[in-house]
Amino acid sequence: MSIRTFQFACHLPSDVADDLNAESARIYNAVMIEHWRIYRRHGIWLRQGDAEKLNDCYDSNIPSTLHAHSIDAAQQGFYKACKTTHALRHQGDETVRFPYWRKNYRTTVWKNTGVYEIENGVMQLSLARGLERLRVRLPSHLGWLNKAQTKEVRLVFDVASRRYIWHVVVDDGIEPEPFGEFVAGVDLGEIHPAAITDGREACVVSCRELRALNQYRNKRIASIDAQLTRYRRGSRRWRRLRARKARFLTQCDHKQRDMEHKIAREVISWAQKHRVGLIAIGDVRDIADGKGLGRVSQQKIANWSHGTIRTYIKYKAAEAGIQVNDKVSERYTSQTCPACGQRHKPRGRIFTCPHCGRQFHRDVVGAANILSRYEFHELGRYAAPEPKYRHPVDVRGKRSPADTGELARSGENRVRLEEAAGF
Ligand SMILES: [Zn+2]
Repeated sequence: MSIRTFQFACHLPSDVADDLNAESARIYNAVMIEHWRIYRRHGIWLRQGDAEKLNDCYDSNIPSTLHAHSIDAAQQGFYKACKTTHALRHQGDETVRFPYWRKNYRTTVWKNTGVYEIENGVMQLSLARGLERLRVRLPSHLGWLNKAQTKEVRLVFDVASRRYIWHVVVDDGIEPEPFGEFVAGVDLGEIHPAAITDGREACVVSCRELRALNQYRNKRIASIDAQLTRYRRGSRRWRRLRARKARFLTQCDHKQRDMEHKIAREVISWAQKHRVGLIAIGDVRDIADGKGLGRVSQQKIANWSHGTIRTYIKYKAAEAGIQVNDKVSERYTSQTCPACGQRHKPRGRIFTCPHCGRQFHRDVVGAANILSRYEFHELGRYAAPEPKYRHPVDVRGKRSPADTGELARSGENRVRLEEAAGF
């Protein structure tokens, strides 16, 4: 089974799209406002089901343009956001607030029931009873899509391009044949996003651009934030600057997502080439969130997107019929010598063992030991072969912003820096 989201341009007139998402926001706001009102007056934290009933009741005299289940989705939005806040607070981040801002627009969601039919490359989306259905022409690469496979359709305003796009969530229901007979270990790292080995050969997936993008993003955001403090809150310049910040962040997110997909794809294609049927990944969820480290390391850890790459590896593996075990403890995997089994904390990218004198690539040591722990419940049973490098994103010979180093810090090179990062 594989679930994928396809995105394509939306050609609805913008006022039609605006109206739909404004209506979704109106319902979302109503649920949120009622929730806080009841909490303020009576100290009662309304449950999701009750809030929905209450909203249905209050709203029964306001005719909505949306399909009944699109209304449900808008109502559920507030409690979904609360859930996220709960989860983040549970992880110890007390600064996360529960949603309280009213929205002007909100993504409209059609559940499977809201998709009326798909025929001849046209998808019909239901609105409220009595209203004409929306007709969405599918792009040619989605010609095969049918109603049963369509799990959800979303009308999303893309902040970066300032246009509406459709997101179609598809479950093709295909169970892929199990693939491969070997096991490989994967180490997700910060300098090199992924290293993989089956004990005989190794591959390090390198991506300087990903790090460069993160550094550039932090720098630029710091500078925008500094400018923001100079303007009066809510003034026109302040609002413009804030919009620019949002747009910039969305652009960065898109670039990052693209790179992460390519990295995960590289790992899976290596696994396929080496007939790997199971990938063991280190469990990094318990890694320090960066607290207590230096400021620089803290930023690195905070931006480290191992969560996303891990997710992408999992679903690309599932598509290829490769199993994934991501519960292997990472403890000491990067510190144990694959040759003599003694522990040593490596400095830099090369693991030089002080006990036996042998040298290995640090990330491959991690991957080999994860593999060893998965198969034998102990470390050091697999060698760490000399890796081959793969660069799924970096353009050869192109200077990334990270390489411009000192130069980039002076103002006149700002433009070059931006060009290099592709903005
Ligand atoms: Zn050793």
